Amino acid sequence: MPAVTVDDVLTLLRIGSVDAGLDRPRPVESVTSAPSGFEGEGFPVRRAFAGVDLRALDPFIHMDQMGEVEYAPGEPKGTPWHPHRGFETVTYMIDGLMQHQDSNGGGGMISDGDTQWMTAGAGILHIEAPPEHVVMSGGLFHGLQLWVNLPSALKMAQPRYQDITSSKVSLLSSPDGGALVRLIAGDLDGHAGPGATYTPITLVHATIAPGASLTLPWREDFNALVYGLSGKGSVGAERRPMSWGQLAVYGAGTSLTVAADERQDSRDTAFDVYILGGQPIREPVAAYGPFVMNTKAELIEAFDDFQAGRLGTIPPSPDA
Ligand code: MN
Repeated sequence: MPAVTVDDVLTLLRIGSVDAGLDRPRPVESVTSAPSGFEGEGFPVRRAFAGVDLRALDPFIHMDQMGEVEYAPGEPKGTPWHPHRGFETVTYMIDGLMQHQDSNGGGGMISDGDTQWMTAGAGILHIEAPPEHVVMSGGLFHGLQLWVNLPSALKMAQPRYQDITSSKVSLLSSPDGGALVRLIAGDLDGHAGPGATYTPITLVHATIAPGASLTLPWREDFNALVYGLSGKGSVGAERRPMSWGQLAVYGAGTSLTVAADERQDSRDTAFDVYILGGQPIREPVAAYGPFVMNTKAELIEAFDDFQAGRLGTIPPSPDA
């Protein structure tokens, strides 16, 4: 798991310890296992949010763990051109390369520890695929794609593209140096991540060393979710077991705790987790295929607009 890493976590700024007298640890409400499926032209994913009530996920809609998969030469796959409206896609690459291009002029290549943040807003067409030389060579492919909802007032916002390279990510240490915390977006204990968000959100990729525990102060008005990327450990003060491919949903409180088991499987050197939370939007959600709106009528309008070419047109290939 390369993402972005450091030789000595203890050289980083430290997240403060939570005040034991004032802290109300968030209990764990559920731990669910992500079922496997296929996306785009047939690349393997795990549906991280499957079986979880949308109200617990709000402001998030959907999340796929892409891979982890070791492709043979010729195997790597992406998506064809497709539309979106009414939300944002946030793609985080851990291993491998992904090329992105959209009808609004946005795009670029992302790899180890880079995030691309695409606000579809009123409408966009895009394509996400491994570059040709990776299709030829094959190799390791691992990432995440998160869908972040937009409130009704922003669903028809201008499309926007943010390229959050790994070098921009804020790197922090847990108080005892047992965890590397990559702050991708939002605030954490007074530190700021590089991603600009329409509604308040915090996104973190943490690597927790075997036997170490990570407690983060977490805004009380945010929800709190932890997804296991690799390795195993536990969640909450109650130390409920959780491993890669599982999602923990926390209840109300002021902090969240994740810990790594002392003994990991031989292929894992730590417990890697994606930690996410945001201010719930609390509006009706009408989601179908590539569109996330408030009402069924708006979904029909989105399909009509797509059919009529009003969500954008496919630009010429950069290779052409
Ligand atoms: Mn897409």
